[in-house]
Amino acid sequence: MSALVLESFAQGHWVAGTGAPVMIASAVTGEPVASASSDGIDMAAMVRYARTIGGAALRKLTFHQRADALKAIAGLLTTHKDALYELSFHTGATRSDGMVDIEGGIGTLFVYASKGKRELPDETFLLDGDVDYASKSGAFIGRHAYLPREGVAVHINAFNFPIWGMLEKFAPAILAGMPVITKPATTGAYLAEAAARLIIDSNILPPGALQLICGATHDLFDHLNGQDMIGFTGSMETSARLQSHPGLLKNAVPFVAERDSLNCSILAPDITVEDPEFEIFIREVFREMTVKAGQKCTAIRRILVPENRAEAVSAALIERLARLRIGDPRLETTRMGALASLSQRRDVRARIARLAGESDILFGDPSQVSVDGADAMKGAFLSPILLRVRDTASAETVHNVEAFGPVATLLPYRAIDDAIALANRGEGSLVGSLVTRDVDTARHVIFAAGAYHGRMLVLDRDCARESTGHGAPMPHLTHGGPGRAGGGEELGGVRAVKHHLRRIALQGSPAMMSAVLKSWIKGAPEITREQHPFRYAYDALVIGQTFHSKERVVTLADIEHFASFTGDIFYAHMDAEAVKGHPFFPGRIAHGYLLLAFAAGLFVDADKGPVLANYGLDNLRFLKPVSPGEAISVRLTVKSKASRHRDYGEVRWAVEITSSAGEPAATYELLTMNAHIA
Ligand code: NAP
Repeated sequence: MSALVLESFAQGHWVAGTGAPVMIASAVTGEPVASASSDGIDMAAMVRYARTIGGAALRKLTFHQRADALKAIAGLLTTHKDALYELSFHTGATRSDGMVDIEGGIGTLFVYASKGKRELPDETFLLDGDVDYASKSGAFIGRHAYLPREGVAVHINAFNFPIWGMLEKFAPAILAGMPVITKPATTGAYLAEAAARLIIDSNILPPGALQLICGATHDLFDHLNGQDMIGFTGSMETSARLQSHPGLLKNAVPFVAERDSLNCSILAPDITVEDPEFEIFIREVFREMTVKAGQKCTAIRRILVPENRAEAVSAALIERLARLRIGDPRLETTRMGALASLSQRRDVRARIARLAGESDILFGDPSQVSVDGADAMKGAFLSPILLRVRDTASAETVHNVEAFGPVATLLPYRAIDDAIALANRGEGSLVGSLVTRDVDTARHVIFAAGAYHGRMLVLDRDCARESTGHGAPMPHLTHGGPGRAGGGEELGGVRAVKHHLRRIALQGSPAMMSAVLKSWIKGAPEITREQHPFRYAYDALVIGQTFHSKERVVTLADIEHFASFTGDIFYAHMDAEAVKGHPFFPGRIAHGYLLLAFAAGLFVDADKGPVLANYGLDNLRFLKPVSPGEAISVRLTVKSKASRHRDYGEVRWAVEITSSAGEPAATYELLTMNAHIA
């Protein structure tokens, strides 16, 4: 194929840079695949366009509408994935490496689309918790909400996962309503460009929602302010340089960094060679060394094993590594492809040389490798390299130098506390795994090493088969680690959406806050309408709409009937003698569940209507016991609404059961599904 001239997408147009382009070579053949330049592109104008055109349009959409857009993009990319795989081979990735990147990226979009629909409201803002405090009379309250930022999310990605890296940042940003300027690493930018082109040209997103820089970012950072944010993935050196940009510091531009990580996996002392966990450990380490030729930020770099298992572990790993077929990633027999570029291979070799200063190479030759179907020297092929430190106690480099390739080092340890100390010497990593069957060991390691790791995986025979593995960040779980790993946090479901929003503390009257935030707060006006609220379809119900029931006396006969009917003959309801001197109860009291059942009987409007189903209760609290002879009544108020489906939506009702003394006996939130049209 002839080399592609990559274009950036700026201010609504595809443009090639004006300067001398950087040539990007195939990782497999060394032949040119593409060239990229962003010279001459007006970065300030891109930022303005993102803020004023893209951001303004995205902020008009609700979370649900943005989630629909993500789902449509995921569907679109799925239909074009063969073309993406074709390009992916040039990055040195095998088909299964490509799956992690391409399907992993698409899967992340699907997860965010689904979470956006299920876990976020059909609104443009998000409440954060309930009322946090109220004044003495309740006329003044405080609570929190997340509002959209008014800036642009600038995403700078590493070379190893051109598609996943772009989409895992893009999905939460778009869901939050932030326009994105994305910059793939120049190596492999042709793959990111192809995916971005599909997204942009589909017009699924409003104009300005996504812009792309293929090449350098030039003076982009000079134009960012406190409404913008940066998501960076790459090396510690680049991150430190970019983070110290004076404009970013002055304007307090949030900078989320995902950087180097010297991840470890620990084989616990309780695992013998005969246990299935031993094989699980070997499989995991082998996979982490070889998938994507070890160019994964989460790959296992440090293999911590009990001293008396070190020989067995190294023998088992060497046996597997010797069988590994390396070569042209298009070949079906190939299990490991090439590194991303020749310069990457030079870098990894240099780092292996540093590691070898304190370690012996047990397997592999950094300077040569036998490959199938390709020229080992023209392509960026490298043998997997297994090292073993000569002296665990004095080894330093292994805890500081990340060789971003198929390279891992064995560190024999004496006792589990030594393993923990070694694990933590990575000074902050993305993931640590532990293979054990022993609960005490697992607890000890998690609590003693947890602060140093973003994610911890405990593997044993019970979960290994279904485990997503040491190295796979999941969109549901946070991805990021402290210290060396950058201190950033990405993914983690809705958490990442919140990172792209601004949390604001709000104060005011219950009436004002209820109306502004579309969530009724006690003390705000109650709205009484002609009919019972159950007669109103989802769309017709208004926030604050309230029903007050008549009273009902709770008798001793009711309590005894309920007890015998349900079998709940707990002494506090049945035995006056036994309850004497009880710290909470004045004597026999009504069952809490009896109160709930009576409350339903008091507030329900029985005829068939728009209320389709009772869907559950949240935040139930029994506040005051109800004694036989006392009367209760119920207040039912529409607290908030969330459309869930074309045909129905969820209504959250604030319910308060009051005893005849005028005190709340119970409060809870009742959820019903109500039809849009009665
Ligand atoms: P890198 O050299 O630091 O580059 C990362 C990104 O920064 C690239 O897009 C690069 O663009 C860009 N960049 C470099 N200088 C820049 C500047 N002055 N202004 C703006 N952007 C600039 O890292 P890499 O070699 O691509 O990636 C390998 C490293 O990333 C490894 O150390 C690995 O541990 C880390 N990584 C971490 C994670 C994680 O999630 N924590 C994931 C993957 C990789 P160009 O390509 O155009 O130079």
